[in-house]
Amino acid sequence: MDELRIRGLRVFAHHGVYPEETRLGQTFVVNATLFLSTRRGGLADKLEDTVSYGEVCRFLTDFLQENTWKLLEAAAEHTCRALLLRYPLLRGVELELEKPSAPIPLPFDAVSVRITRRWHRAFLGLGSNLGDKKAWLDGAIAGLRQNPDIRVKAVSTYLTTKPYGGVEQADFLNAVAEVETLLPPEELLEALHRLEQAAGRERLIHWGPRTLDLDILFYDDLVQDDADLTIPHPDLQNRRFVLQPMTEIAPHFVHPVLGKTMRQLLDDLPEEG
Ligand code: ATP
Ligand code: CA
Ligand code: CA
Repeated sequence: MDELRIRGLRVFAHHGVYPEETRLGQTFVVNATLFLSTRRGGLADKLEDTVSYGEVCRFLTDFLQENTWKLLEAAAEHTCRALLLRYPLLRGVELELEKPSAPIPLPFDAVSVRITRRWHRAFLGLGSNLGDKKAWLDGAIAGLRQNPDIRVKAVSTYLTTKPYGGVEQADFLNAVAEVETLLPPEELLEALHRLEQAAGRERLIHWGPRTLDLDILFYDDLVQDDADLTIPHPDLQNRRFVLQPMTEIAPHFVHPVLGKTMRQLLDDLPEEG
């Protein structure tokens, strides 16, 4: 990924833990690396095809002056997010915030916090088998769209499927959605749980009837197996109601563990799988 770099932007602002810091203010130094493709701007030689570093410097200055945080961590976190939301061409931002005049009674040059934040690509599985199933799925997509940290890129057609896992119950309506998100996996799962709860989901029987079930299928090419969150979803390769809609919206996406595309995994499923 190409980089646009800003070094040593000085901003007089009021962040700090001590009351004197928020009252008097001090100079902060910003180093930023913006990750984006400069190809279009580079070929066309037009400012509107890239991100203007002058504008970004102005934005950084205003944002850091209009807000006050105790911690450099908080200032950096919010500033990265604001940049990524403000400039759609940005894929990621590395931001270093330095405090050369931090109130430490010892000789030092500067303290700083440096973080990298970026858009991640995730695939979500959606399912409902209670009440107005289409309305629950539509509501879930609308709920995702309302979250500024999530951008819905594609939604598959809704698929009616027989229940899975041996519990006697109504047919399911299933779909998958491709999203981009600034949320780390655990926070994405929390956002999904909030949408399930808003749909009145009760966890009664595992694999039992539910108004809305939202699963994380993939998150970039991340592989993780934590107590509360396994990515990729461990059973998706056995589920036609996942692989069929995945093949519709991302046929060439490769499962990071199994090394096969969605289309290959679908073709591998036994009949009635
Ligand atoms: P399945 O996961 O087999 O589709 P389910 O969706 O019916 O079953 P739930 O009762 O909705 O299971 O979820 C139980 C827990 O699974 C969640 O609270 C969550 O902590 C955990 N979990 C683990 N990995 C994932 C994932 N990739 N996506 C969603 N939840 C997950
Ligand atoms: Ca599920
Ligand atoms: Ca689930």
